Amino acid sequence: MSKINVAVLGATGSVGQKFIELLANHPWFELIEVAASNRSANKKYGEAANWFMQTQMPDKIKNMEVKECIPNLTSKVVFSGLDSGVAGEIEENFAKAGYIVISNSKNHRMDENVPLMIPEVNADHLAMLKNQSNGYIVTNPNCSTIGMVTVLKPLYDKFGIEKVNVVTMQAISGAGYPGVPSLDIYDNVVPFIDGEEPKLEKEPLKILGKLNSSNKIDLADIKISAQCNRVAVIDGHTECVQVKFKKKPTKEEIIEALTSYRSEPQKLNLPTAPKQPIHYFEENKYPQPKTHRNLEGGMAVSVGRLRECPLFDYKFVVLSHNTILGAAGGTILIAELMKDKNLLK
Ligand code: NAP
Repeated sequence: MSKINVAVLGATGSVGQKFIELLANHPWFELIEVAASNRSANKKYGEAANWFMQTQMPDKIKNMEVKECIPNLTSKVVFSGLDSGVAGEIEENFAKAGYIVISNSKNHRMDENVPLMIPEVNADHLAMLKNQSNGYIVTNPNCSTIGMVTVLKPLYDKFGIEKVNVVTMQAISGAGYPGVPSLDIYDNVVPFIDGEEPKLEKEPLKILGKLNSSNKIDLADIKISAQCNRVAVIDGHTECVQVKFKKKPTKEEIIEALTSYRSEPQKLNLPTAPKQPIHYFEENKYPQPKTHRNLEGGMAVSVGRLRECPLFDYKFVVLSHNTILGAAGGTILIAELMKDKNLLK
């Protein structure tokens, strides 16, 4: 099978570097172009990027010339890890020119005709693309939305959900590179992440919403309250979640719903899909970022500390890798699903 050529926009950033790492040996996609701002354009990638992945920069990429983010690239499929200050317009320009843009940025997530995708949760929402013309824009959710919604999905389907309260402890890498100044985060917790709480309160309603006959989404009827904190962890967002169900399940029913959950990416055996999307831990000290963020290549969500809640029905802790499942890996999985559905043509 010949591989599909792809490009990465924002290739020098935190998410962009993770794309490069994850695409290095991808069985379906060949990374042939990298693009970033004018500060980096026309330089060799090895000179432009301050590489901070734990693997070596691939030789092929080191010598690649960084291009500008304008729609004159050879690859028709572009992954976007662009800064949200510029992503909106650049991604629109690419889509208008017929490119397929799969983005990590917030700009188009809530647009009426743009699918907001977690392949394990709402693969059917790709039908929204019928309402787009020329190219497409497809988005993945905020990095803390992905972990929480993956866990809520099987519970929502089986027991219904009325309301959710979530308190996050989010990793430094979520702020991009160079991110939070060291004197702000070392020995500290910062109880504010600009724009994060509204995303966590609204994006789940679209993702868990129902596709209607016009290929638009009827939002899910759930009330969500979020408080987001930045903590001194490098990778891995931890979330303390409380849920009030429509029909209160037993603890055993929750564990069964979570651990048996399999979805479209598992059925299709997509290359980046985890074998088991949700892992449950009975030990009181788990999950922890250092121990569990890389489970199933960083594509699985870990859950633990499940117990009854005096205010809601149950409370538990969710952990997921913010730059893999929550960004580059999640986006690559969307592209794999789209390829399977013949949507990368
Ligand atoms: P980042 O480290 O700050 O990287 C931003 C990238 O955008 C760099 O490649 C930068 O290129 C490029 N860029 C900046 N201004 C540009 C311009 N005017 N024209 C073209 N390119 C420009 O940010 P990040 O953390 O990777 O995040 C990227 C996007 O993904 C953001 O929208 C973010 O909200 C989202 N996201 C991040 C995470 C995470 O965990 N980090 C998770 C989910 C989603 P230069 O190096 O040349 O400046």
